[in-house]
Amino acid sequence: MRQRKKTGIFFPRFEGQRLKDFPQALANILDKENVSYYDGVYTSDNPYYVKPATEEMLVKVHSRDMIEGVKRAGYYETALYSAGGTVQAALEILWGRIDNAFVFTGVGDHHAGRNFFGGWCYFNGAAVAIAMLREGGVTRFAIVDTDSHHADGTRDIFCQDKEVLHVCFCYQDYHDECGNVDIALPYGISDGAYVRKMEQEFTRRAIVFKPEFIFWELGYDAVHGEYGDKGISKDCPAKLAKVIKDTADTVCRGRLVTILCGGSRRQLATYIIPRVIKELAELD
Ligand SMILES: [Zn+2]
Ligand SMILES: [Zn+2]
Repeated sequence: MRQRKKTGIFFPRFEGQRLKDFPQALANILDKENVSYYDGVYTSDNPYYVKPATEEMLVKVHSRDMIEGVKRAGYYETALYSAGGTVQAALEILWGRIDNAFVFTGVGDHHAGRNFFGGWCYFNGAAVAIAMLREGGVTRFAIVDTDSHHADGTRDIFCQDKEVLHVCFCYQDYHDECGNVDIALPYGISDGAYVRKMEQEFTRRAIVFKPEFIFWELGYDAVHGEYGDKGISKDCPAKLAKVIKDTADTVCRGRLVTILCGGSRRQLATYIIPRVIKELAELD
Protein backbone atom coordinates (compact mmCIF):
# COMPACT_ATOMS: atom_id res chain seq x y z
CA MET A 1 0.00 0.00 0.00
CA ARG A 2 1.14 3.50 -0.81
CA GLN A 3 2.67 5.41 2.10
CA ARG A 4 0.69 8.63 2.56
CA LYS A 5 2.35 11.92 3.38
CA LYS A 6 2.68 12.67 7.10
CA THR A 7 0.86 15.97 7.52
CA GLY A 8 1.00 18.23 10.57
CA ILE A 9 -1.87 20.59 11.33
CA PHE A 10 -0.87 23.56 13.50
CA PHE A 11 -3.66 25.33 15.33
CA PRO A 12 -2.28 28.25 17.36
CA ARG A 13 -4.34 30.42 19.69
CA PHE A 14 -6.42 33.20 18.20
CA GLU A 15 -9.76 34.95 18.26
CA GLY A 16 -12.05 35.92 15.41
CA GLN A 17 -14.97 34.58 13.43
CA ARG A 18 -13.61 32.97 10.30
CA LEU A 19 -12.21 29.85 11.98
CA LYS A 20 -15.10 29.31 14.41
CA ASP A 21 -15.88 25.93 12.79
CA PHE A 22 -12.35 24.65 13.48
CA PRO A 23 -10.96 22.27 14.49
CA GLN A 24 -14.37 20.48 14.45
CA ALA A 25 -14.55 20.88 10.64
CA LEU A 26 -11.48 18.61 10.44
CA ALA A 27 -13.21 15.70 12.21
CA ASN A 28 -12.80 13.22 9.35
CA ILE A 29 -9.17 14.29 8.83
CA LEU A 30 -7.82 14.33 12.38
CA ASP A 31 -8.69 10.66 12.87
CA LYS A 32 -6.29 9.57 10.10
CA GLU A 33 -3.08 7.88 11.19
CA ASN A 34 -0.88 10.01 8.91
CA VAL A 35 -2.19 13.31 10.36
CA SER A 36 -0.74 14.94 13.50
CA TYR A 37 -2.51 17.76 15.28
CA TYR A 38 -0.66 20.49 17.20
CA ASP A 39 -2.65 22.95 19.32
CA GLY A 40 -1.86 26.16 21.19
CA VAL A 41 -4.22 25.25 24.04
CA TYR A 42 -2.28 22.17 25.11
CA THR A 43 -0.01 22.43 28.14
CA SER A 44 3.53 23.47 27.29
CA ASP A 45 5.02 20.05 28.19
CA ASN A 46 2.94 18.37 25.47
CA PRO A 47 5.06 17.68 22.33
CA TYR A 48 2.06 18.78 20.23
CA TYR A 49 1.76 22.17 21.95
CA VAL A 50 2.08 25.06 19.44
CA LYS A 51 4.75 27.33 20.87
CA PRO A 52 4.64 31.11 20.34
CA ALA A 53 7.58 32.66 18.49
CA THR A 54 10.19 34.22 20.77
CA GLU A 55 11.65 37.70 20.45
CA GLU A 56 15.03 36.06 19.78
CA MET A 57 13.49 34.47 16.66
CA LEU A 58 11.74 37.64 15.53
CA VAL A 59 14.89 39.79 15.55
CA LYS A 60 16.41 37.51 12.92
CA VAL A 61 13.94 39.16 10.51
CA HIS A 62 12.31 42.24 12.06
CA SER A 63 13.73 45.41 13.59
CA ARG A 64 13.37 46.05 17.32
CA ASP A 65 11.31 49.17 16.54
CA MET A 66 8.91 47.16 14.43
CA ILE A 67 8.48 44.53 17.16
CA GLU A 68 7.74 47.29 19.69
CA GLY A 69 5.17 48.69 17.23
CA VAL A 70 3.41 45.32 17.02
CA LYS A 71 3.29 45.15 20.84
CA ARG A 72 1.38 48.44 20.84
CA ALA A 73 -0.95 47.41 17.98
CA GLY A 74 -3.01 44.98 20.07
CA TYR A 75 -2.48 41.60 18.41
CA TYR A 76 0.92 40.75 19.80
CA GLU A 77 0.06 37.38 21.34
CA THR A 78 -1.93 36.23 18.30
CA ALA A 79 0.97 37.32 16.08
CA LEU A 80 3.47 35.38 18.22
CA TYR A 81 1.41 32.20 18.04
CA SER A 82 0.75 32.57 14.30
CA ALA A 83 4.46 32.97 13.48
CA GLY A 84 5.35 30.33 16.10
CA GLY A 85 3.11 27.77 14.40
CA THR A 86 4.91 28.33 11.10
CA VAL A 87 8.36 28.06 12.69
CA GLN A 88 7.41 24.86 14.48
CA ALA A 89 5.88 23.34 11.34
CA ALA A 90 9.08 24.01 9.41
CA LEU A 91 11.27 22.53 12.15
CA GLU A 92 9.09 19.43 12.51
CA ILE A 93 9.55 18.85 8.78
CA LEU A 94 13.31 19.47 9.04
CA TRP A 95 13.54 16.92 11.85
CA GLY A 96 11.63 14.38 9.73
CA ARG A 97 8.63 14.05 12.06
CA ILE A 98 6.20 15.16 9.34
CA ASP A 99 6.46 15.68 5.56
CA ASN A 100 4.28 18.75 5.14
CA ALA A 101 2.09 21.08 7.18
CA PHE A 102 -0.94 23.31 7.26
CA VAL A 103 -0.67 26.28 9.64
CA PHE A 104 -3.82 28.07 10.76
CA THR A 105 -3.03 31.70 11.54
CA GLY A 106 -4.93 34.39 13.41
CA VAL A 107 -2.99 37.14 11.66
CA GLY A 108 -1.01 36.95 8.45
CA ASP A 109 2.49 37.13 7.12
CA HIS A 110 2.92 38.61 3.75
CA HIS A 111 2.37 42.35 4.40
CA ALA A 112 4.90 42.26 7.27
CA GLY A 113 8.36 43.48 6.15
CA ARG A 114 11.60 44.04 8.02
CA ASN A 115 10.47 47.32 9.48
CA PHE A 116 6.74 47.65 8.75
CA PHE A 117 3.46 45.82 9.19
CA GLY A 118 -0.15 46.28 8.10
CA GLY A 119 -3.18 44.68 6.44
CA TRP A 120 -3.70 42.21 9.33
CA CYS A 121 -0.11 40.98 8.99
CA TYR A 122 2.21 41.52 11.98
CA PHE A 123 5.17 39.12 11.87
CA ASN A 124 6.36 37.36 8.73
CA GLY A 125 6.16 33.77 9.94
CA ALA A 126 7.55 32.33 6.70
CA ALA A 127 10.59 34.61 6.90
CA VAL A 128 11.18 33.78 10.57
CA ALA A 129 10.90 30.06 9.75
CA ILE A 130 13.39 30.47 6.90
CA ALA A 131 15.83 32.20 9.28
CA MET A 132 15.48 29.28 11.70
CA LEU A 133 15.90 26.65 8.95
CA ARG A 134 19.06 28.40 7.78
CA GLU A 135 20.53 27.85 11.23
CA GLY A 136 19.71 24.18 10.66
CA GLY A 137 21.75 24.18 7.45
CA VAL A 138 19.01 24.64 4.85
CA THR A 139 19.91 27.28 2.25
CA ARG A 140 17.43 27.47 -0.63
CA PHE A 141 13.74 28.23 -0.41
CA ALA A 142 10.73 28.98 -2.56
CA ILE A 143 7.69 30.96 -1.45
CA VAL A 144 4.55 30.84 -3.57
CA ASP A 145 1.78 33.29 -2.72
CA THR A 146 -1.81 32.89 -3.93
CA ASP A 147 -3.34 35.59 -1.76
CA SER A 148 -5.08 38.08 -4.04
CA HIS A 149 -2.84 40.98 -2.95
CA HIS A 150 0.81 41.72 -3.58
CA ALA A 151 3.16 40.34 -0.89
CA ASP A 152 4.97 43.59 -0.21
CA GLY A 153 6.35 42.49 3.18
CA THR A 154 7.78 39.19 1.97
CA ARG A 155 9.25 40.98 -1.05
CA ASP A 156 10.85 43.60 1.21
CA ILE A 157 12.59 40.89 3.24
CA PHE A 158 13.82 38.74 0.34
CA CYS A 159 14.19 41.13 -2.62
CA GLN A 160 18.01 40.97 -2.52
CA ASP A 161 18.16 37.30 -1.51
CA LYS A 162 19.16 35.10 -4.44
CA GLU A 163 18.52 31.93 -2.45
CA VAL A 164 14.81 32.62 -2.06
CA LEU A 165 12.49 32.28 -5.06
CA HIS A 166 9.37 34.38 -4.43
CA VAL A 167 6.49 33.86 -6.86
CA CYS A 168 3.54 36.09 -6.05
CA PHE A 169 0.22 35.85 -7.93
CA CYS A 170 -1.28 39.31 -7.73
CA TYR A 171 -2.12 42.18 -10.11
CA GLN A 172 1.20 43.00 -11.79
CA ASP A 173 3.82 41.27 -13.94
CA TYR A 174 7.42 41.50 -12.78
CA HIS A 175 10.56 39.43 -12.61
CA ASP A 176 14.24 40.09 -11.89
CA GLU A 177 17.55 38.32 -11.43
CA CYS A 178 17.10 37.86 -7.66
CA GLY A 179 14.25 35.37 -7.86
CA ASN A 180 11.43 37.90 -7.44
CA VAL A 181 8.43 37.15 -9.64
CA ASP A 182 4.93 38.66 -9.83
CA ILE A 183 2.24 37.19 -12.04
CA ALA A 184 -0.84 39.25 -12.87
CA LEU A 185 -4.10 37.33 -12.49
CA PRO A 186 -6.86 38.88 -14.59
CA TYR A 187 -10.31 39.15 -13.05
CA GLY A 188 -12.49 36.28 -14.21
CA ILE A 189 -9.63 33.83 -14.77
CA SER A 190 -10.91 30.24 -14.83
CA ASP A 191 -9.69 27.68 -12.30
CA GLY A 192 -8.11 25.74 -15.16
CA ALA A 193 -6.22 28.77 -16.43
CA TYR A 194 -4.95 29.52 -12.90
CA VAL A 195 -3.75 25.93 -12.50
CA ARG A 196 -1.88 26.15 -15.81
CA LYS A 197 -0.32 29.47 -14.76
CA MET A 198 0.80 27.84 -11.50
CA GLU A 199 2.48 25.04 -13.45
CA GLN A 200 4.10 27.40 -15.94
CA GLU A 201 5.14 30.21 -13.63
CA PHE A 202 5.85 28.40 -10.37
CA THR A 203 6.49 24.70 -10.98
CA ARG A 204 8.81 25.29 -13.94
CA ARG A 205 10.83 27.88 -12.02
CA ALA A 206 10.99 25.71 -8.90
CA ILE A 207 12.37 22.77 -10.91
CA VAL A 208 15.22 24.98 -12.14
CA PHE A 209 15.74 26.77 -8.81
CA LYS A 210 15.83 23.57 -6.67
CA PRO A 211 14.57 24.86 -3.31
CA GLU A 212 14.95 22.57 -0.30
CA PHE A 213 11.68 23.79 1.20
CA ILE A 214 8.52 25.38 -0.23
CA PHE A 215 6.27 27.79 1.68
CA TRP A 216 2.78 28.49 0.38
CA GLU A 217 0.95 31.64 1.48
CA LEU A 218 -2.59 30.40 0.95
CA GLY A 219 -4.95 33.35 0.75
CA TYR A 220 -8.47 32.46 -0.33
CA ASP A 221 -9.45 36.12 -0.75
CA ALA A 222 -9.28 35.72 -4.56
CA VAL A 223 -12.28 33.37 -4.45
CA HIS A 224 -15.57 34.69 -5.82
CA GLY A 225 -17.44 36.71 -3.19
CA GLU A 226 -14.34 37.55 -1.13
CA TYR A 227 -12.73 40.97 -0.67
CA GLY A 228 -9.97 40.27 -3.23
CA ASP A 229 -12.40 38.55 -5.64
CA LYS A 230 -10.72 37.40 -8.89
CA GLY A 231 -13.71 35.26 -9.82
CA ILE A 232 -12.07 31.88 -9.10
CA SER A 233 -14.26 29.15 -7.61
CA LYS A 234 -14.13 27.82 -4.07
CA ASP A 235 -12.71 24.58 -5.50
CA CYS A 236 -9.68 26.38 -6.93
CA PRO A 237 -7.47 26.43 -3.78
CA ALA A 238 -7.57 22.61 -3.52
CA LYS A 239 -6.64 22.35 -7.22
CA LEU A 240 -3.69 24.66 -6.59
CA ALA A 241 -2.78 22.60 -3.51
CA LYS A 242 -2.39 19.54 -5.72
CA VAL A 243 -0.03 21.34 -8.12
CA ILE A 244 2.05 22.84 -5.29
CA LYS A 245 2.24 19.54 -3.41
CA ASP A 246 3.28 17.73 -6.58
CA THR A 247 5.93 20.41 -7.16
CA ALA A 248 7.27 19.88 -3.62
CA ASP A 249 7.35 16.11 -4.29
CA THR A 250 9.37 16.71 -7.46
CA VAL A 251 11.87 19.24 -6.11
CA CYS A 252 12.22 18.88 -2.34
CA ARG A 253 11.00 15.49 -1.12
CA GLY A 254 7.57 16.95 -0.41
CA ARG A 255 8.73 19.52 2.14
CA LEU A 256 5.90 22.07 2.09
CA VAL A 257 4.56 24.49 4.72
CA THR A 258 1.12 25.89 3.87
CA ILE A 259 0.26 29.08 5.76
CA LEU A 260 -3.28 30.43 5.92
CA CYS A 261 -3.26 33.99 4.62
CA GLY A 262 -6.10 36.32 3.45
CA GLY A 263 -9.81 35.50 3.30
CA SER A 264 -12.67 36.46 5.59
CA ARG A 265 -15.76 34.34 5.09
CA ARG A 266 -16.33 31.58 7.57
CA GLN A 267 -18.33 29.41 5.14
CA LEU A 268 -15.51 29.55 2.60
CA ALA A 269 -12.88 28.71 5.21
CA THR A 270 -14.94 25.70 6.26
CA TYR A 271 -15.29 24.57 2.64
CA ILE A 272 -11.77 25.26 1.39
CA ILE A 273 -9.38 24.38 4.24
CA PRO A 274 -10.39 20.71 4.73
CA ARG A 275 -10.11 20.14 0.98
CA VAL A 276 -6.64 21.67 0.87
CA ILE A 277 -5.51 19.56 3.83
CA LYS A 278 -6.87 16.40 2.14
CA GLU A 279 -4.63 17.14 -0.84
CA LEU A 280 -1.60 17.65 1.41
CA ALA A 281 -2.26 14.46 3.38
CA GLU A 282 -3.23 12.48 0.24
CA LEU A 283 -6.64 11.56 1.66
CA ASP A 284 -9.50 10.86 -0.76
ZN1 LIG B 1 -5.01 39.46 0.49
ZN1 LIG C 1 2.99 40.39 -6.20
